[in-house]
Amino acid sequence: MPSGYPPMRTRLSPRQTAETVSWSRREFLHAATGAAAATALFALAPVPALASPRGRKVLVVTFGGGARDEETFMPDGQENIPHLLTELIPRSTFFTQVVNHGILGHYVATASLATGVYETFNNFAAVPPDHPTVFEYFRRDLKRPATDTWVVAPSNGFNRIGESGERSYGHGAGVVLPKRLLAAALSSGATLEYQHLLRDNYETPLYAPEISGNEVELPQLADLLKLSVTDFTAHARNLASPDELSVYVAKELMRQLAPSLLWITLHDMDVAHAGCYSLYIEGIQRTDRLCAEIWKAVESNPEYAGKTTMFVLPDFGRDSDLDASGNGFQHHRTGDALSRTTWMMVMGPGVRENVVVDRPVQSLDLVPTLGALLGFSAQFAQGRPLTEVT
Ligand SMILES: [Zn+2]
Repeated sequence: MPSGYPPMRTRLSPRQTAETVSWSRREFLHAATGAAAATALFALAPVPALASPRGRKVLVVTFGGGARDEETFMPDGQENIPHLLTELIPRSTFFTQVVNHGILGHYVATASLATGVYETFNNFAAVPPDHPTVFEYFRRDLKRPATDTWVVAPSNGFNRIGESGERSYGHGAGVVLPKRLLAAALSSGATLEYQHLLRDNYETPLYAPEISGNEVELPQLADLLKLSVTDFTAHARNLASPDELSVYVAKELMRQLAPSLLWITLHDMDVAHAGCYSLYIEGIQRTDRLCAEIWKAVESNPEYAGKTTMFVLPDFGRDSDLDASGNGFQHHRTGDALSRTTWMMVMGPGVRENVVVDRPVQSLDLVPTLGALLGFSAQFAQGRPLTEVT
């Protein structure tokens, strides 16, 4: 158990560990932001009326790929997430105990978040999720066009995440792979100066996914976004990381197409696999800043301001320092309770601000919650809508 947690009895069960992590997050948040427990508030205040689903928009941002509490919510980590602590959490309902019982690989875990079912396919295979995605439920039930939902994904391996292999569905989200777009835009001589933006996968250099799926090609995207390829590469030159490139593309999508359901998967912090702690910390700090930037883009865009609910949640955590079978922050291989006990913040119209929910929920609850908010039925999803925010 990491030293920053309160003293615990010797060996805790996964459930006890999750409860302790949840308790710590609540206490630290209470100290840092004055957040109150939801149970106390619910007893006092009636549920506020939510804005009408008409015109409502939803952004899902994954705070990926894998941060621990030591570097985020614990006292020593809080300096890495100033934007979450001072700008976003005070406006959010914050779930302290979101447990992920699935496979801890980034693509399969993110796909599970998007289907509401623990997907079991090989993380390193270019396959679609087995169960319908949130994008398919959204489009089929609400009769939405292809331009109304998008995924901006961090690596080529995510190119099939937009729609499942389930035959009765099949019309999902367009997937934008910013690194692939950038690579396509560059002449072979120019790729060297963009290397820091092009690295595709932090976990295994051997992984070279086959590209075929619903991903969008460069000329098509340039056309949709009214963006010249020259402007795109010129802008990319000033960006520090792949996640900055993803957020740049996401903001362009918001400006030009204003999709109602936009999913942005951040991934910079997974550079931790290389074993360099300072790069991992930089990744967390950048993710913190980018989450606040995304919310600013919401508030400054009339298509989104006042009618957007934003969900921010990690795909999962990383290994603890004290688990002998792992190597601390570097990987997420032990499957221990700490790396499975994540969190989620929800903000937007009708969502209670500066409130903490302690009860255990699952990462699978995201899709049914989005269904309750947007008005579609996530019929294959195994989670439950989170009543605190619907
Ligand atoms: Zn990883």
